[in-house]
Amino acid sequence: MIRVLVSSCLLGQPVRYNGSDAPSDKTILAQWKSEGRLVHFCPEIAAGFPTPRPPAETVGGDGKMVLLGKAKVFEDTGLDVTEMFVDGAKKALEYAKNNNVRIAILTDGSPSCGSTYVYDGHFKGGTTPGKGVTAELFEQNGIRVFSEDQIEDALEYLTDLEKLKP
Ligand code: SF4
Repeated sequence: MIRVLVSSCLLGQPVRYNGSDAPSDKTILAQWKSEGRLVHFCPEIAAGFPTPRPPAETVGGDGKMVLLGKAKVFEDTGLDVTEMFVDGAKKALEYAKNNNVRIAILTDGSPSCGSTYVYDGHFKGGTTPGKGVTAELFEQNGIRVFSEDQIEDALEYLTDLEKLKP
């Protein structure tokens, strides 16, 4: 069965940096859950970050540039946490591969999970188009990433994938 990986915070788990969860349309997610299709993962918790934790942003580019070694992830304290973010992304990919995940619904804006935008590294609320580190690593490995606002698109993509099954 093709599985869908969802950011843990979108399923109500209070794992965000500030100890909150993130809102999402639960209807399709509930359908996938009842089909046994849904798995969830938080790359930052997997990397060993506590909750709550200081906010982090990519500096010098998005997740793609981080994976190329051309940008870094910093907490607002100035601590360089790049290595932990890359580690969390690798753990998420390993988990996804072991669970036949082909689609991910990830929380937009996060330095790990962002799929259409990330914060711009100035910690002033500014954003820039791009992906988080985990979202980028997923896409590079054939896992299609959607934001929490694109769940219907993800359902369409899943339906197409299922039709291609032998
Ligand atoms: S890393 Fe992803 S799953 Fe974890 S709290 Fe941040 S947005 Fe949610």
